[in-house]
Amino acid sequence: MQTKEYKGYEVGPIRPPSEAYSLLIRLVRGCAWNRCKFCGFYRGVPFGIRSPEHVKQDIDEFKAWIDVFEGKAEKNIETEADYEAYYMASNWYQSGMESVFFQDANSLLMKPEYMVDILEHLRKTFPQISRITTYARSDTIARIPDEFLTRYAQLGLNRFHIGLETGNDELLRLVNKGVDKKTQILAGQKAMGAGIEVSEFYMPGLGGKEYAFQSACDTADVMNQINPDFIRIRSMALSEKLDLYEDYEKGTFTRTNDLDDLREIRSFLERLEGINSVVESDHILNILLELRGTLPEDKERMLATIDRFLALPEEEQILFRLGRRIGVMGELSDLQHGPRRQQVERVLKANAVDSSNIDAISSRLMVKAIPI
Ligand code: SF4
Repeated sequence: MQTKEYKGYEVGPIRPPSEAYSLLIRLVRGCAWNRCKFCGFYRGVPFGIRSPEHVKQDIDEFKAWIDVFEGKAEKNIETEADYEAYYMASNWYQSGMESVFFQDANSLLMKPEYMVDILEHLRKTFPQISRITTYARSDTIARIPDEFLTRYAQLGLNRFHIGLETGNDELLRLVNKGVDKKTQILAGQKAMGAGIEVSEFYMPGLGGKEYAFQSACDTADVMNQINPDFIRIRSMALSEKLDLYEDYEKGTFTRTNDLDDLREIRSFLERLEGINSVVESDHILNILLELRGTLPEDKERMLATIDRFLALPEEEQILFRLGRRIGVMGELSDLQHGPRRQQVERVLKANAVDSSNIDAISSRLMVKAIPI
């Protein structure tokens, strides 16, 4: 146990986009691994596993606030932590109180017996919850006995968001992911076998130009062997704060642009066979938000969308790329949307954006969009 005294509700820095309406409950602080070269989310956050009693006290705090909202009790905000709990509970109450997300990077590091205790308390306190999810590392899932994974699923911990990133072993080593392809497949299959939904994140651009094609092929192979419920595309942004940036400066990593990433995604999607996963492209860093659908029926449409983009005249590609990065465009049809197009054209003209600087501008805006 890290802390003896309960200091009130605490919240971690990030959650997946799909958990925007979830109640955030922190089981661990930071990331125990914290060595992936492409990730800076938890740098400077000392790792710690919270006391299960403190986690349960957080849950009780939420219950107290929900009782206030339902007119059954009164409660005052006295500390910063009270305010955080009130704010989180209020958002959750207004969005229907259906889902919960366990933070931070890998809550499965909580001892299985403690995890079961927390889940039981959560279920008892809020029996209406229909979804409990968490980020999870494949190597941790692979070590958890099947009977505990099954128990988690029975208690409603029913979705793991796994940062697979790539299925290419050489690239996994180069970026210090700390896990290999075989373990990723095993972890995905174990979770699915226990009745837990699996959401695998794929990171186009991670291998630079050198590994793009091989990463697409090996990642598709991993997905084909797991058949996860969700495949989530999350393009890479190369911040100067990342260790990978040093490789870029040394010349051992080459930065890709939006077109390279779309070609990589095309190679990836093309190779997904015999699975019925839902593909999502809901991340702020992705260039084309419409690359989503259910396999296999939407595969051809997604490939055709990429082909349409790649066949556009260069000026149209630049206009769309800029529009996407300033948050005005997201789907190809936005190029035909008069007001949006005019808005982007104004920004393009004012900043003299053209083929000579769009890669650098796009890259800078991507980094600005995320908290690293
Ligand atoms: S990608 Fe995940 S495992 Fe790697 S450092 Fe970031 S949070 Fe930790």
